[in-house]
Amino acid sequence: MAADLEAEVQAIDKSLLECSAEEIAVKWLQANDLQKEVYQHLAYYVPKIYCRGPNPAPQREDMLAQHVLLGPMEWYLCGEDPAFGFPKLEQANKPSHLCGRVFKVGEPTYSCRDCAVDPTCVLCMECFLGSIHREHRYRMTTSGGGGFCDCGDTEAWKEGPYCQKHELNTSETPEEEDPLVHLPEDMVARAYNIFAITFKYAVDILTWEKENELPGLEMIEKSDTYYCMLFNDEVHTYEQVIYTLQKAVNCTQKEAIGFATTVDRDGRRSVRYGDFQYCDQAKSVIVRNTSRQTKPLKVQVMHSSIVAHQSFGLKLLTWLGSVIGYSDGLRRILCQVGLQEGPDGENSSLVDKLMLYDSKLWKGARNVYHQLFMSSLLMDLKYKKLFAIRFARNYERLQSDFMKDDHDREFSIADLSIQIFTVPSLARMLITEENLMTTIIKTFMDHLRHRDIQGRFQFERYTALQAFKFRRVQSLILDLKYVLISKPTEWSDELRHKFLEGFDAFLELLKCMQGMDPITRQVGQHIEMEPEWEAAFTLQMKLTLVISMIQDWCALDEKVLIEAYKKCLTVLMQCHSGFTDGEQPIVLSMCGHSVETIRYCVSQEKVSIHLPVSRLLAGLHVLLSKTEVAYKFPELLPLSELSPPMLIEHPLRCLVLCAQVHAGMWRRNGFSLVNQIYYYHNVKCRREMFDKDIVMLQTGVSMMDPNHFLMIMLSRFELYQIFSTPDYGKRFSTENTNKDVVQQNNTLIEEMLYLIIMIVGERFSPGIGQVNATDEIKREIIHQLSIRPMAHSELVKALPEDENRETGMESVIEEVACFKKPGLTGRGLYELKPECARNFNLYFYHFSRAEQSKAEEAQRKLKRQNREDTALPPPALPPFCPLFASLVNILQSDVMLCIMGTILQWAVEHNGYAWSESMLQRVLHLLGMALQEEKQHLENLSEENVVTFTFTQKISRPGEAPNNSPSILAMLETLQNAPHLEVHKDMIRWILKTFNTIKKLRESSSTSPVAETEGNIMEESSRDKDKAERKRKAEIARLRREKIMAQMSEMQRHFINENKELFQQTLEELDTSTSGVHENSPVISDAKLTALGPEQTRVAEHRQVVMCILCQEEQEVKVDSRAMVLAAFIQRSTVLSKNRNKITPDPDKYDPLFMHPDLSCGTHTGSCGHIMHAHCWQRYFDAVQAKEQRRQQRLRVHTSYDVENGEFLCPLCECLSNTVIPLLPPPRVLFNRLDFSGQPNLTQWIKTISQQIKALYLLRDEDCASNGKNILEFQFLLQLPEGFRPDFKPKNPYSESIKEMLTTFGTATYKVGLKVHPNEEDPRVPIMCWGSCAYTIQTIERILADEDKPLFGHLPCRQDDCLTSLTRFAAAHWTVSSLSAVQGHFCTLLASLVPNEKNGNLPCILDIDMFHLLVSLVLSFPAIHCQDFSGVSLGTGDLHLFHLVTMAHIVQILLTSSTEENGMDQENTNSEEEVAVLTLYKFLCQCTGSALKEISSGWHLWRNLKAGIMPFLRCSALFFHYLNGVPAPSEIQVNGTNQFEHLCSYLSLPNNLTCLFQENSDILNTLIESWCSNNEVKRYLEGKRHAISYARESNKLIDLPDDYSCLINQASNFSCPKSGGDKSRAPTLCLVCGTMLCSQSYCCQTELEGEDVGACTAHTYTCGSGVGIFLRVRECQVLFLAGKTKGCFYPPPYLDDYGETDQGLRRGNPLHLCKERFKKIQKLWQQHSITEEIGHAQEANQTLVGIDWQHL
Ligand SMILES: [Zn+2]
Ligand SMILES: [Zn+2]
Ligand SMILES: [Zn+2]
Ligand SMILES: [Zn+2]
Ligand SMILES: [Zn+2]
Ligand SMILES: [Zn+2]
Ligand SMILES: [Zn+2]
Repeated sequence: MAADLEAEVQAIDKSLLECSAEEIAVKWLQANDLQKEVYQHLAYYVPKIYCRGPNPAPQREDMLAQHVLLGPMEWYLCGEDPAFGFPKLEQANKPSHLCGRVFKVGEPTYSCRDCAVDPTCVLCMECFLGSIHREHRYRMTTSGGGGFCDCGDTEAWKEGPYCQKHELNTSETPEEEDPLVHLPEDMVARAYNIFAITFKYAVDILTWEKENELPGLEMIEKSDTYYCMLFNDEVHTYEQVIYTLQKAVNCTQKEAIGFATTVDRDGRRSVRYGDFQYCDQAKSVIVRNTSRQTKPLKVQVMHSSIVAHQSFGLKLLTWLGSVIGYSDGLRRILCQVGLQEGPDGENSSLVDKLMLYDSKLWKGARNVYHQLFMSSLLMDLKYKKLFAIRFARNYERLQSDFMKDDHDREFSIADLSIQIFTVPSLARMLITEENLMTTIIKTFMDHLRHRDIQGRFQFERYTALQAFKFRRVQSLILDLKYVLISKPTEWSDELRHKFLEGFDAFLELLKCMQGMDPITRQVGQHIEMEPEWEAAFTLQMKLTLVISMIQDWCALDEKVLIEAYKKCLTVLMQCHSGFTDGEQPIVLSMCGHSVETIRYCVSQEKVSIHLPVSRLLAGLHVLLSKTEVAYKFPELLPLSELSPPMLIEHPLRCLVLCAQVHAGMWRRNGFSLVNQIYYYHNVKCRREMFDKDIVMLQTGVSMMDPNHFLMIMLSRFELYQIFSTPDYGKRFSTENTNKDVVQQNNTLIEEMLYLIIMIVGERFSPGIGQVNATDEIKREIIHQLSIRPMAHSELVKALPEDENRETGMESVIEEVACFKKPGLTGRGLYELKPECARNFNLYFYHFSRAEQSKAEEAQRKLKRQNREDTALPPPALPPFCPLFASLVNILQSDVMLCIMGTILQWAVEHNGYAWSESMLQRVLHLLGMALQEEKQHLENLSEENVVTFTFTQKISRPGEAPNNSPSILAMLETLQNAPHLEVHKDMIRWILKTFNTIKKLRESSSTSPVAETEGNIMEESSRDKDKAERKRKAEIARLRREKIMAQMSEMQRHFINENKELFQQTLEELDTSTSGVHENSPVISDAKLTALGPEQTRVAEHRQVVMCILCQEEQEVKVDSRAMVLAAFIQRSTVLSKNRNKITPDPDKYDPLFMHPDLSCGTHTGSCGHIMHAHCWQRYFDAVQAKEQRRQQRLRVHTSYDVENGEFLCPLCECLSNTVIPLLPPPRVLFNRLDFSGQPNLTQWIKTISQQIKALYLLRDEDCASNGKNILEFQFLLQLPEGFRPDFKPKNPYSESIKEMLTTFGTATYKVGLKVHPNEEDPRVPIMCWGSCAYTIQTIERILADEDKPLFGHLPCRQDDCLTSLTRFAAAHWTVSSLSAVQGHFCTLLASLVPNEKNGNLPCILDIDMFHLLVSLVLSFPAIHCQDFSGVSLGTGDLHLFHLVTMAHIVQILLTSSTEENGMDQENTNSEEEVAVLTLYKFLCQCTGSALKEISSGWHLWRNLKAGIMPFLRCSALFFHYLNGVPAPSEIQVNGTNQFEHLCSYLSLPNNLTCLFQENSDILNTLIESWCSNNEVKRYLEGKRHAISYARESNKLIDLPDDYSCLINQASNFSCPKSGGDKSRAPTLCLVCGTMLCSQSYCCQTELEGEDVGACTAHTYTCGSGVGIFLRVRECQVLFLAGKTKGCFYPPPYLDDYGETDQGLRRGNPLHLCKERFKKIQKLWQQHSITEEIGHAQEANQTLVGIDWQHL
């Protein structure tokens, strides 16, 4: 069947290929009815090309369609071969000045904060780089797809609209000319024809709804082939779809994933192909399976030819888009065709049809035609306007469709509003001509139908569907924002008219919000259900900017402003019509004033936080105050209509509500109310909520008698009784037994005083006070920074943003703050300039309570540091604008004085709970404000003015009968000496001082006499008293401090006993770090230290005593005592790898004996350096294990460590560990039988060893053949070398506990290093141990070299300890493994250098890492040596082994050296070394049969050799140092010259390394010959294979670009490698090798060890042996991964100019590479600390543990 189909398809293809595009085009040119001809052609061919089988074949289809279908159209259009026609068109076309590049998902876009008209104006990267905005304050984001580059759009940019590429020629004018003039007439006609036909065809077929018929096309062959088409929805999850498909169409999971991915991407995919019934069957299964919880998945059975035509229809649209790219003329013709009205009149143009059908189209189709619209209609200035009108006329319909549609807005045509409405000229045109503003608002209102009886919005009873719609409808507010974002520069009457009409509609909207979500105080029981509040606040939040923008519009035109003000007032009166109805008027009177008001209690009746109409009016009032009318012709303002008590009523209620909530009176109303209050004050809402309520109160006070205002206020706060009735307060608090109620009242009083402070003091908005906009923002910043220094982003968050996302901060920050750069961690901070501190107002209205107390503390501390008094007096304030000027009188009003007097009286009497310190503090602040006010009045006094502000006089007057209370001033003087008010003394003194200053001012101006007071004298005398008092206090404080200190030190002693381990760390650092070598240094003469060999410097044995961190017991490290262990972490590592593509061999068969010099995978051991008893550790580990098992059963949660894999956290530092290393005394001492007599030279030694090896082999062979023969017989037979006793079994010197730990650690190394199951018997165990020792030393040597640090003396002690114990362990491990196995390893290892007949097929010397070989040889040698009783010392063997390997390495280096004789700076010294190395090289040439390159420069060779061998020598020095414990000479503990010579001397090598060869030439020549004659060496020299050359360069992380946008761009060009050209959603860069991966997505999941893992996890297994470092490019976040379950995020090395990272790329500031931070990440990697870092991160943040890291 499949084969048949294949054959058929091929036959068709062949016949199709024979079609001639030219001939068809000619036929069309002659046709009378072109449409009929074309349709016939399409009807015949389209089904033959498209949809021939179950799966689409896009490449074949495209190829055939181009040939048979599009080709003729192109011929027809051009009238000639399009290969010539199109380039001609392109040439004739004037280059466009619009870029119009449509953005891909993830592509970087740039906006200029200085020049963009609004933040939606963006540039593509190319245009941006060629624009002037590069140097401006730009913002960078990644595109979500859709939208296009605005380069060249003069309306989008205030400056620099063109980049270099799109720049206008000087001769050109941007004026429009008809692009059709550039086209020949006949072509214009043909273009009309073919565009009209094809466009119509495409639109018809895409909007076709019948399943079995075609529009205007005959079905040529009506076959029974159908598709079962599955459509995308946003309801069902990926998993649901995959699961359903597997069931319905019987496919594999992989296929189902493929289907689901395509459906998600394109919006539809056929999931079955066949006859109708077959397809219908699948459909019903899918529908049935998905209809249970939600609406079913959309599935349709469609005839194959319909699908075919639809596919071609889309292809045609794309084709049209590309054809019009050749010429602006063609583009215009297409626009004309698209917008031409059809026979059915309104809405019948092709463009209208598509738009109106949008919500019914699938995603893929929408994308295609949206793109066509963008490249045609939106790129043609004339038609953009016409299209905008069509769009606006259809607006309501489109939005309704969008509400019903379930696709995201980015896939809806409604989303084009951003492209249209943000163009200022279009927006203005649409407002005036199409009444767009009203349309949008009305549409919005239409979709929010749910109202309560008063007609207000009601979200409380929203169903899920309504809530969903509500979320969608919010995008309309966005449209409104776009329309308003650019403000008109001039107003026409028409614009005024239409704007005000829109304003009316807007007021209707606000009216529905005024008073919504009313609440009533819950008494008795707690509310049962939290009421819905979020929807209303969402609405408020979204509208906030719009409300502000509407005010901005009004501010631009006085006529509009006055009209708007009137309208707003009218609506407010409607809202509150009869707000006095049914409520009893009552009369309040105090201090001889009385006022009538209503009876209303916030705590008993309904109250609402939502008062947008009042607040809008407040905003407009402030704007009016700024106008000239306000003070020139106030009669023109509708002020007379205002009723101040009505204006203040609702805002006041709202503020009282806040006060009561704070006083705890609304506790039973639950969290919803707390949240509402929070948002009311929050930076996102406060501008149009809290701030405006304050303004409204200010407006009210300025228009009424302040005494009246205060009485109404007292009444609303429910405090009227307390202040109006003398002594009521005192009685109230003494009689009321309920402390809570008293406390409540106190809080209310405090809150009320605070409110008065705000009403008087908040005058920093232009229009209220005489300030400008920058003063306002400066003040905000000053107060934020008064709390503490802040980062740029923190400040931005604390400030309100305008519609352009600007806070205006940058323009003023320099004036008020200094910037402090960040260090390696943390971020840059702004610090308040000291001179700004005087502007600090403790009662700044945007402080939260917490902020206020932090700021107070910080400011007082600052003052103390500066040795100033700690008073925080109110700052001097700017004067009010005339409209608000009378407001200040509230401070000197009788009621105010009465309130202040009463509270001071309470404080003086100091009894009961009647008063609080905060209350007093606020009164003092108010007094201070009043004095500041009076002082300023006096200072700005002009001749003719009379000062009406006479506060000082008023407070000097004693109260009247019947109380005869003392004057406020007198009371202050009393309080100054009150012992209980210590903290307020500074403030009271400040007040008295200011009082005196004013008095003097008055006297000097002698405007009016001031009542004589003794204040001055009082102050003086009190100051002395004060001093004495302070001294006494200080003495008391000192004594108290001493007592506390004594207590503390007692506690500390106790604490040390309790928490010994905490102090252990410090002790131990002192202990172990000095334990090794340094302590002995003075004993040994520094003259010549030798690390190995018979000449090795003898080190006095040193007792090492350590303490267990678990039981705190001390113990000496000895061979026969209980084992002490170090917590350690073993991991596989590729950090040094030179070949990341190496395929990991099967671990069960892999032989690790020889390490390849590419070091592709090593085993690293690290330790935190913390020591425990082995048994203590065992007990601890068992406990962890048991706890973990219980926890897993109970909670099924992961931990940061994997107990089953032996992982645990160090009990002291929580460092991740997976085993322990035993601590040992230097092991060599135990086996070294010292004998200095006649040690053999290298030749002799090799001979002996070879004999011994031979004997061992023979013995083993014989052993196998026949058991039971006498060993002496063999000795005779074999001629055993002298003193060699192969039957000798050495006694293991270690205690049982140490032996056990040797095995434990060895097995762990084996298990982790090879990724196998633990098996302590495996002969590979010792190899892995030696390997880990060698590898770890190599990594540390590299780190030191990279950092240019000396080899010794700079290791952190935890590394020093780790290397000591690791080396000693590796040296001792042979004692617990099979002797013969270790002997066998030694023999094989040695055979790689000294060949014998037994070991064939060993790697050639090019393929051996010599340091690994050295370590393995030296550490396995004791296994042979222990049976050698000939008197040869172990050290002699070490030395010969070392020399042998060194020589092999020299040959290795010379063979692979890539010396170029470039004659560069060659010094012709011909030193001894140079001559010798040249001789050696010549010998090598000889041995290799002259395959080696000819080199004549000994200088070069020697230089290369020295550089190449250095790492090996350094590693060897470390190794022998840790092995034998000989301290390092001081010369190599510091950086300096002659390091090479010092190293050689320490290692017992001649400075001229080649001497080694000369000294042992008899045997070496043979060896070299054998090395060089190896086949692999030959192949290498012939260039047939590769080899590592020396010195190996250190691995670094990849180079990152300085500018982060380069990375974004790189990532946006990256497409998923598995799903054919699709953009990856989470492109992620491997920082180790630079591979870009498609992370966190289904498409790139692979199976790893039987589990599905994401691309990153899979990559770590090949690239990093399980450990990975990635940069998630879209998120700008570093990702650390280790294994499948461990991961964490890490701050990226990119910082903005403010020294901050931008994780998630939310702020969009330009980011640049911070090299230091990147180095830090690199160091983590080189030190193998990634896993540890993850462990710490996960311990600190448990949510990280729950993330499915393996899916990234
Ligand atoms: Zn561009
Ligand atoms: Zn450009
Ligand atoms: Zn700019
Ligand atoms: Zn212990
Ligand atoms: Zn530790
Ligand atoms: Zn990689
Ligand atoms: Zn992918």
